Amino acid sequence: MFNLQIIPVTAFQQNCSIIWDDDKNAAVIDAGGDAERIIQFIESQNLHVQKLLITHGHLDHIMAVEPLKKYFNAEVLGSQQEDKILFEQLPQICREYGFPEVPAFLPDRWLQEDDIVDVGKLSFKIRHLPGHSPGHIGFFDFENKITFSGDVLFKNSIGRTDLYGGDFDQLIQTIRHKMFDLDDDFIVISGHGSHTTIGCEKKTNPFLK
Ligand SMILES: [Zn+2]
Repeated sequence: MFNLQIIPVTAFQQNCSIIWDDDKNAAVIDAGGDAERIIQFIESQNLHVQKLLITHGHLDHIMAVEPLKKYFNAEVLGSQQEDKILFEQLPQICREYGFPEVPAFLPDRWLQEDDIVDVGKLSFKIRHLPGHSPGHIGFFDFENKITFSGDVLFKNSIGRTDLYGGDFDQLIQTIRHKMFDLDDDFIVISGHGSHTTIGCEKKTNPFLK
């Protein structure tokens, strides 16, 4: 069975997702901040965190990765390498946005299109989803029909394209070709706000009419 807990973190209310299988093998997707709250939940459920997964390098998706890596001795995977500069400049970017400075770090391994990431009995295929940031990826579980796709597609909206490496036309192409090919009942867990489905966004998303 697929288990999921979403904890909105920081002032950005970024959806940090904790997922686990029936043996309590777990991963944290986009540990964006508020490490203590994430740890508290994980300990309350006795989960074994194996991996920390990252959709893209924006600060509200990565600020708690290093503290959690130290605490759980977990492997850090993603995003795709094109977001490298965002990881390298994390301290400055934190300052710009008024957050306490977080040291720069790099993932243990970059991911790319068609890589497979296993978390216990759960399995995710990687798709490169550029447009919001150049190295943005999504984690797709085709068995359970759920994707963690960060700031690409939101309920009735799309990710911003005015930040480093953003590109509106590319984002629309990404959604059309790499998300709208999924079944209508595929669930989308977005980086902010409520979840949605592919079918719902095909029908009602004003940016993709
Ligand atoms: Zn973002």
